[in-house]
Amino acid sequence: MRAFTTAGYGALLTAFSDAGYEAVDLEALDAGRRHVFLRHDVDFSPEYCAPIARAEIDVGYRSTFYFLVTSPFYNILDPAVRDDLRRLSALGHAIGLHFDASLYPEGPQLEEQAERERMLLESVADAPVRSISFHRPAPSLVGRPGHFAGRPHTYQPQFVEAIAYYSDSQGAWRFGHPLDSEAFARAAAMQLLTHPIWWCIDVEETPTARLNRWLGHRLEQQVADVGRNCKSYDPSLIERRAPGAGRAG
Ligand SMILES: [Zn+2]
Repeated sequence: MRAFTTAGYGALLTAFSDAGYEAVDLEALDAGRRHVFLRHDVDFSPEYCAPIARAEIDVGYRSTFYFLVTSPFYNILDPAVRDDLRRLSALGHAIGLHFDASLYPEGPQLEEQAERERMLLESVADAPVRSISFHRPAPSLVGRPGHFAGRPHTYQPQFVEAIAYYSDSQGAWRFGHPLDSEAFARAAAMQLLTHPIWWCIDVEETPTARLNRWLGHRLEQQVADVGRNCKSYDPSLIERRAPGAGRAG
């Protein structure tokens, strides 16, 4: 069962569990052991993390959810997002900083900016934020040795070069399916990056259809919010033009 659905994600986790893999935090990831580091970069909607988090709990795994502080799509200070963060932490999952370095000038102050974002996220999540992943990293950041802003980051050579690294970016396994890998066959350490939006529901559809579903849901929510803020607002015009995508389940 290899679908990009919540059930498909559960089946993937079960395969790792059956192969004897232990899910560990980035700091504990050891190339010489049967470790899997489950990483999620939250690029779109934090509400999509919950099904992923539950699927992991079901097999006794914990993961790290990396949140943007600078997202154009969500705001960690939104009480609903804050609650999502705190629920993930309460389940035993770790929270990490997803850092978009392209928003700042290059130079020594880049790490200061990351530290500011990290402290803000830690304060809102009310949980330790111990590691960093880069959002759409520039080539200079991939394989960059050593800590960044005093923290381990997911693109250090020992986490991307010394071990197997699989990512579902763009809604597909770009480097092959992790279960078909030579690393999985010999139960070698692996970093598995998944984005919750591709796995959040049990409907098989193209990445574009999934993104349109999310956009349709988001528009519905924003229309309702505008209505709450402005009693005279008439949503009928925009409703006729809304995408046909339904609410994500
Ligand atoms: Zn990202």
